[in-house]
Amino acid sequence: MSPASNQHVTNIASVNSEQTAVCSGDGPTSGKDSKTDSRVSLIGLDRESFQSTLVSLGEPSFRAKQIWHWLYYQGARTFCEMTTLPRALRTRLSDSCNIDRPSVSRLQLSEDGARKWLIRFSDGQEVECVHIPEEDRGALCMSSQVGCTLTCKFCYTGTQKLVRNLDSGEIVNQFLIARDTIGEWPSPKNGRMISNIVMMGMGEPLYNFDNVAHALRIIMDGEGIALSRRRITLSTAGVVPFIQRCGRELGVNLAVSLHAVNDEVRNQLVPINKKYPIKELLASCRLYPSGRNSRRITFEYVMLRGVNDSDADARALVRLLEGIPAKVNLIPFNAWPGAPYECSSNNRMHSFADIVNDGGYSAPIRVPRGRDILAACGQLKSESERAQRHRV
Ligand code: SAH
Repeated sequence: MSPASNQHVTNIASVNSEQTAVCSGDGPTSGKDSKTDSRVSLIGLDRESFQSTLVSLGEPSFRAKQIWHWLYYQGARTFCEMTTLPRALRTRLSDSCNIDRPSVSRLQLSEDGARKWLIRFSDGQEVECVHIPEEDRGALCMSSQVGCTLTCKFCYTGTQKLVRNLDSGEIVNQFLIARDTIGEWPSPKNGRMISNIVMMGMGEPLYNFDNVAHALRIIMDGEGIALSRRRITLSTAGVVPFIQRCGRELGVNLAVSLHAVNDEVRNQLVPINKKYPIKELLASCRLYPSGRNSRRITFEYVMLRGVNDSDADARALVRLLEGIPAKVNLIPFNAWPGAPYECSSNNRMHSFADIVNDGGYSAPIRVPRGRDILAACGQLKSESERAQRHRV
């Protein structure tokens, strides 16, 4: 896998500083180190905490609504842009509240239009976030953790130790940064190029449920970004106890990384299966609210040569899914340096897909996007980690 050619790599450190407008109060404090920054972070606070924070700073409660609108509808990056606020208040807020975006250490554009951001937080930790455009829409693949604890054998992120959970502000900021780059402010009603979110980047979102839930509620809020829960998909390797909470509290679409049809193989590929085996996982899918109305659950199935790709596996998959409103996404395995597997042949994938289709489930073979910039499914890993591996 070759890294992106240089013409597709933009170092946007300079872009960042240009875009940060400076007005009285914004200059000296923006970009402060988190250890020395005593300002309250506003991005990532839910509506209630957002309001109470501003009230505790002595502001009347209608200000919270106004500022929320500036941040999440208009996309304001500084208080000085918030021209409906009195000038003195803008200065005061700049001194007491932090709305800085994290920095983007690298932005890459694939030949197929996919974009990948390497986002660096104030403690130096990094995650990746990917935009996959279609003709008139596009999905943003966001991360929930720095690294991952799941150690799925075929996943590049799985080779990276978990460093930490992202907080809700860091999750929301991935969306805001993508919107800045793509130029999608103020929040358009229709024709959005970031029309969908998939929580399929680095990490296991259900191991960081509270922060993911906070972030998604902010993104769904009708007075800001207003992205419908129907356009958000959360992907899990199968953290069974949180699947019901996800359905009940968020009501977003569910994707489940199944990848095998028996516990023996799944224990190898997705070790969390030893804790929550296939039977328990599928029982929780049967109860998932969106599964019971017209929205189907997506089952992801990575095609690994000679491991999980036989006709018998395909038939077993159809039997397993019986009674679940489901579709199957067949993902050609995306190789990474040192990966222990190979992708199934085209013929094998088609034969597998035909059996699943004949069984009554739609089973498209996903076309990998952003392969030239290592942005395809399961290839995300922070640049610093990658560089360390390289040196070993
Ligand atoms: N932890 C969550 C979300 C992150 S992974 C989950 O497991 O669902 C997002 C999807 O990419 C999962 O279906 C995962 O199994 C798949 N994936 C990981 N590595 C891959 C690879 N190298 N090739 C293809 N798909 C991969």
